[in-house]
Amino acid sequence: MLKLFFVLWCLIGIVPMTHAQDWQAAQGDIVRLETDAPQGVVNIRAFDIDWPVKRLSDSRIVAWVGVGIKTKPATYPIVMSLDLADGRHFLRTDQLVVAKGNFRISRITVKKKHANFNPKSLARIRSDQRALGRTYNMPVDANPDVQIDFMPVEGPITTPLGAQRYINGQPRSPHTGVDIAAPEGTPAKTPLAGKVLLTESMFLTGNSVVIGHGNGLYSVFVHLSEILVKEGQWLATGEVFAKVGQTGRATGPHLHWSLRFHKKRVDPLSLLRK
Ligand SMILES: [Zn+2]
Repeated sequence: MLKLFFVLWCLIGIVPMTHAQDWQAAQGDIVRLETDAPQGVVNIRAFDIDWPVKRLSDSRIVAWVGVGIKTKPATYPIVMSLDLADGRHFLRTDQLVVAKGNFRISRITVKKKHANFNPKSLARIRSDQRALGRTYNMPVDANPDVQIDFMPVEGPITTPLGAQRYINGQPRSPHTGVDIAAPEGTPAKTPLAGKVLLTESMFLTGNSVVIGHGNGLYSVFVHLSEILVKEGQWLATGEVFAKVGQTGRATGPHLHWSLRFHKKRVDPLSLLRK
């Protein structure tokens, strides 16, 4: 059995290798790497980050790697290391080929106070951003899963991740999540278990909730009409945590869902199990 793996894995210091396998991704993707790996401890490293790994069987593992929307299209190494119980250590280097994301243009018109900020608003926006940023460092017990089977609400995606935003005609940063249209008051369910890390009313994002799912994965849900949970609360997959609304800078009721995976901005839709 082990012999087979020598095709891809090599004993450290003995066999030099170029790379074993190519994986394809676009900016904003979460790449699912399913590959052979004999029993042992596997570590997957890319972009200087260790990514979550789950064992599927005695001979197969799956790992997830996040490609940020700002990651430059290029080829990157993925280093996989394997420690066997008998002390042997194997190494393998794959390649991740990142293509440009297929991002579209999105134009919206909002109230003047939400487009041209006075110094007071600007200070508030910055403090909101810092509060959100702090949550991405909060440790959360690992959830056994990284993929989801349903969306937090049912509805059409009105703005995808990465859409180039024009707000009142001015070019702005790309859209940081997905917008799912749904009627005001629709219950939003967490698609993955996790801990509530933040519940706050913010200037641009309105009523906002951050849920940490473990494994470096954090969901941000905003523009909520009502928040039904408290900071520190643990939610099981499918639990209702809020109601859809249009608080903050929103042009109609919808759920905006952003995802951070080891701080990289990735597409929530790429979490869906295919
Ligand atoms: Zn949005």
